[in-house]
Amino acid sequence: MQVRRTYPKDYGKWLNVAFAAVLAFGLAGCQAGGAGHGDASSKEQVLAEPVSEETMESLREISGEGAASDVPVAPAPDIEVAPDVTSAADDEAEKGVAESGESDEAVSSDEGKGGLPSAADLSIVEDYRAGFDHGPKPAAFQKYIVLHDTESDSDAAAIIDWWDGNGNQVAAHFIVNRDGTIWQCVPLDRIAHHAGYGDTGHNDRYGIDEDGRDDMAGSTPIGGDFADYAMNAWSVGIEMVHVGGEGDYPEEQLRAVDDLIAYIDASFGFESEIIDHKAWRSGNSDTSAEFADYLESYRATRKHA
Ligand SMILES: [Zn+2]
Repeated sequence: MQVRRTYPKDYGKWLNVAFAAVLAFGLAGCQAGGAGHGDASSKEQVLAEPVSEETMESLREISGEGAASDVPVAPAPDIEVAPDVTSAADDEAEKGVAESGESDEAVSSDEGKGGLPSAADLSIVEDYRAGFDHGPKPAAFQKYIVLHDTESDSDAAAIIDWWDGNGNQVAAHFIVNRDGTIWQCVPLDRIAHHAGYGDTGHNDRYGIDEDGRDDMAGSTPIGGDFADYAMNAWSVGIEMVHVGGEGDYPEEQLRAVDDLIAYIDASFGFESEIIDHKAWRSGNSDTSAEFADYLESYRATRKHA
């Protein structure tokens, strides 16, 4: 894996008003569609959804936990792990996990995985932003990989800038572009706000709870049918650049997702259960209908086909 560190760039000159509006509403459809979110059978329906969850209402400062990381990384020999992923941290919550850490639901055998990504297969561009970090998520609290559509044609670089600039503190750990390039903006062992509130009762259904690790900064309760909020603290989020109803996912993008999932598995040392966003919150549109067969394949084989 080649790790290339990048720094914030000025995309302002081409982020014109129309572009920003489309991006805003598109991401609102993915990130924040709450009660009443439709089935995304029409793009207009998605774009009309309000930003009801991770609103700008609560812009508390992120606590001083920063981006320290201590994921127990167990990479394959041919995977070069970014320095940030292996640096030490002294978070008390993480120490507690190390002592009592059990994750009997997520751990499974590595046998039969069909090979790990090679250095040539996976190139991740790191673009970490402090505002996306919402607390510790050491391996004992990692159970799920949640797949999303961006509901925008914009590429990862522009999306990360938009996330960082809108004040909602929403982001996924990874964005996979249509050409297969992968961007990462939150470390694997930190909480990102990508899943938001889920169906009432889903904390129990998914075997997770709100244990206080997530600072919940920027989140706004939905209540009613979507009252549960624990998935962010127990998962890794992957956004695929895709708009529901606008065609298939490119092979390059799907192969990159294959490699990324293998990389995440290798990093944690076990296979997390793969779900999509609408499994967590049934009102969501993502992933879109054209991903259904791929999702079934991912859940069965960890590859798209
Ligand atoms: Zn989503």
